[in-house]
Amino acid sequence: MKQSLNKAMSERDSAEMRVPAPSYVRAMLPYQPGKPITEVARELGLAEAGIVKLASNENPLGASALAVEAAQAALAEVARYPDGGGFMLRQALADHHHISPEMLVLGNGSNDVLELASIAFLEPGSSAVYSQHCFIVNRLATQARGAEGIEVPASGYGHDLWAMREAVRSDTRVIFVSNPNNPTGTFVAPGEVRHFLQQVPANVLVVLDEAYYEYLAPEQRSGSVEWISEFPNLLVTRTFSKAYGLAGLRIGYGVAHPDVADLVNRMRQPFNVSNVAQAAALAALGDDAFIERSVELNRAGMVQLTRGLASLGLESIASSGNFVSVRVGDAGRVFKQLLEQGVIVRPVAGYGLPEHLRVSIGLESENSRFLEMLAAVL
Ligand SMILES: *Cc1c(COP(=O)(O)O)cnc(C)c1O
Repeated sequence: MKQSLNKAMSERDSAEMRVPAPSYVRAMLPYQPGKPITEVARELGLAEAGIVKLASNENPLGASALAVEAAQAALAEVARYPDGGGFMLRQALADHHHISPEMLVLGNGSNDVLELASIAFLEPGSSAVYSQHCFIVNRLATQARGAEGIEVPASGYGHDLWAMREAVRSDTRVIFVSNPNNPTGTFVAPGEVRHFLQQVPANVLVVLDEAYYEYLAPEQRSGSVEWISEFPNLLVTRTFSKAYGLAGLRIGYGVAHPDVADLVNRMRQPFNVSNVAQAAALAALGDDAFIERSVELNRAGMVQLTRGLASLGLESIASSGNFVSVRVGDAGRVFKQLLEQGVIVRPVAGYGLPEHLRVSIGLESENSRFLEMLAAVL
């Protein structure tokens, strides 16, 4: 039975190979996520409880209890479609940012918003600018539209905004800026970003991805959302996946001029954000104390990890996020050996960093376990 199914499937596969997908689709490489705990446990025969996952920049405290409670309550309504317009959440976000709800785009993760912006503004024959070592979704979203990606060499692992401005061509529609960037953690100061926005032609959309915004020190916080009134070609994205601890529910959002938001909203699936995600995000937004605790834990963990890495003689890239990338040499080997010890981190060779590993800041005990195992493996 299974055999005949396999045979039928391989016949079908070869039939599918003849369906002419565009060359830019066939050229795409799949996104490689951090390994899930369940998969590592299964593959290596380890107990799930003993595995430490520092591979996906998740909040080690979990989510706000208020958000979890709201999500549970929303389960009672799952037989109904969610509010496709996200009325309550957009209203709350509008209040939070002192903007009008028309400026908001809700996404199935902020990843979705990056994707939707690429659908709205890119097409074959156009181009998008992004940085070397940048968040890989920028490149994937560009490739999937058949647009040309212009990758600008990084400077000290970070975005060289001046060079990115210079790389803009007459066919360029979008510039992706991830600030802080993942996987490098590099950060461009608000004053420089603002200066960059002043230089960018008004007919080029700047997508400013601020997935780690909540982790920034007060002096690093830009008025990016306020800048939109001055720069109608600015789209700011934020997420509930990182500091808010709702990665599994998939919810993020974009803020832009109402005309831009309208175009991007037209590209959404009608119900792209679930009712559970909307309810949880709404509650999470009201739990400032949870964010404060998360940020404080991250600050302390960053000190613990960077000191520990330095004492092993390793060079890490200064990070403004909830993770740090460290140069370990043969990263593939170190990754595998850490995995065998039940410590999952993230190889970043696909980001042009073959000698680095990216480590998320965990609980103090998780950070210690990682440092201990890393010392042993090295
Ligand atoms: C994690 C991350 C995102 C957001 O992911 P979602 O879960 O889709 O919201 C976006 N940009 C960067 C740079 C990230 O690291």
